[in-house]
Order: sequence, then structure tokens, then C-alpha cells
Amino acid sequence: MRFTELPARLAVMAIGFALVISSGVWPAAADNPPSPEEYVAYVGGDARILPAGGLKLDGDTQLCGQRPTVLDPNLDDYGAAYPGFLIMNPKLLARVSTPVKKWIYAHECGHQFRGPDEETADCFAVQRGRRYGWLSEDGLNEVCGFIAPAKGDMMHLGGSHRCEYMRRCFADPSVR
Ligand SMILES: [Zn+2]
Repeated sequence: MRFTELPARLAVMAIGFALVISSGVWPAAADNPPSPEEYVAYVGGDARILPAGGLKLDGDTQLCGQRPTVLDPNLDDYGAAYPGFLIMNPKLLARVSTPVKKWIYAHECGHQFRGPDEETADCFAVQRGRRYGWLSEDGLNEVCGFIAPAKGDMMHLGGSHRCEYMRRCFADPSVR
């Protein structure tokens, strides 16, 4: 659930997380992020591009503006984002509940609109879920259970802190 924006960001995000592309550093990251086509050509395997509106999660179409989604079953996380497109790992997503799937997608979408900060992307996701009606208190509890094992490090707050913050965002009527 990472976002790679700038070369400096790539270096920083590498601390505590595997790189966005499991097989190595994106070669063009020093200049600009890859296009979805470049990403797919680089990772190979079964990765493929879905146009905006082409992704369904448990039957429901997911949208993040006009951004396409790359399905990458070899991604080393549930989801990730480059500026301009989202990456989802269908193999890992199959293991989690519907609200958690949608939260992951919305979190990566949050990176598209709000930048690399994880808490901000979390907040974006739960507020979006509340507004669109796919996230209830129960669903939020499932999300909290999902992220609970994540240990905090210098860059990333642990799951319980993230959860506390998301609960506040979920209850906050003003959109952040
Ligand atoms: Zn993230």
C-alpha cells in the first residue's frame, strides 16, 4: 500500500518496505514514474491493465477518477500506486472480505489524490467508504483487524494507531 512519487520518495519508501516492484527498482524512477504499459512490460508475468471502470471487487465496479488499474498477481503487497494508476494483487485480495478489498482500493486511490502520506490515504478511504455506503462500523472493524498485525516503524505507524485515526476520520463529518 505504497505510493511512489519522486526519486527521493522511492528511496525513502524503500526503508521499511520492499520496493514497489518486487523484482527491483523501477529503472526509470529517477526521471519519471512508469506508465501502466511500462510497468506491465517490466514486471511481466500475468500482470495486465484494466481501463478506468474495468475493475470489479466482489461484483462492484471500482472507480478512481480516470485512472486505470494494473492487476499484478506477483506484487509483494495487496495494493500499490504510482501517480496515474493503481496496482492491485488479485491473488492476495481474494483472501480478504469485501469491505477490506474496497478499503485497499480506496486507500490506493487516496494516494492518487492526496499524495504519499499513509494516514491521509487511510482517512480518504474510510470517508469515501462512508459516503458511498460500502463501509459500515462492522466493515471498519474488519479493516482494523486486517491492518492490526502491521508493526510500526519510523515511517509507518502501527496498525492500532492507524485504526484509531481511521475511526476518528470515519466519525468526522468534514471531508479531509
Ligand atoms: Zn499506502
